Amino acid sequence: MAQSTISNNLVQLGCRIHDACLKYGRDPAGVRLLAVSKTMAEDRIADAIAAGQHDFGENYLQEALPKIHNVNDPAVIWHYIGAIQSNKTRDIAGQFAWVHTVSRLRIAARLSAQRPHHLPPLKVLVQVNVSGESTKEGVDPDAAANLVGDMLTLPRLEIAGLMTIGAAGADFTRQREAFRRLAGLRAAIAARYGDDLPGFTELSMGMSADMEAAIAEGATWLRIGTAIFGPRTQQQTTRETL
Ligand SMILES: *Cc1c(COP(=O)(O)O)cnc(C)c1O
Repeated sequence: MAQSTISNNLVQLGCRIHDACLKYGRDPAGVRLLAVSKTMAEDRIADAIAAGQHDFGENYLQEALPKIHNVNDPAVIWHYIGAIQSNKTRDIAGQFAWVHTVSRLRIAARLSAQRPHHLPPLKVLVQVNVSGESTKEGVDPDAAANLVGDMLTLPRLEIAGLMTIGAAGADFTRQREAFRRLAGLRAAIAARYGDDLPGFTELSMGMSADMEAAIAEGATWLRIGTAIFGPRTQQQTTRETL
């Protein structure tokens, strides 16, 4: 895709986000855009950077590491948004600023222990399976507060909020219901831990197909791939299911 297409897509997306913020009474400054660049080549990432995008999300570590190395731009902030195997935590802790997909204490403990000392604490979000689909990653909503409580002892993590993946194919009302549950859970956990959990403010929710519902329910990070970079190819889509 040509540079102008990606920059046009980013402009259009900015309008779509802005319109939804107006409609649902959100301050646009409180809704940040994470460009999901999985399966996209480095030249496309460079085009998005040239158009002013700074935050990028990657799902597959072995794909992300060479991209981070080659893009080599200190202004870019990398977010890990994929499933986490325990033998991958050292690279994730060393190469990313944010991790949106923590759902087990053992993984959280490894990320904390392996976060390099010259870097600030790793910002982490706890992934919650609000829709209850058995195929999805994420902690059960009932178990999320206790997981966050256990993570409070981990010195090299900054526990920043919650993340979820919306219900696939749901209509607007059901999309909003799932996101509202995540927002309610965030508020309940923040209230429960109070001063022990400062800055538990982030809600990573909403993708290309359900971003308006997420904005309506308080999303602070939208994770958007297709609406920026265009559709992923068949071969690439297959990899997502691995
Ligand atoms: C791929 C992916 C996205 C982006 O999805 P689009 O529909 O392309 O916007 C967001 N979040 C996660 C976790 C993903 O894997």
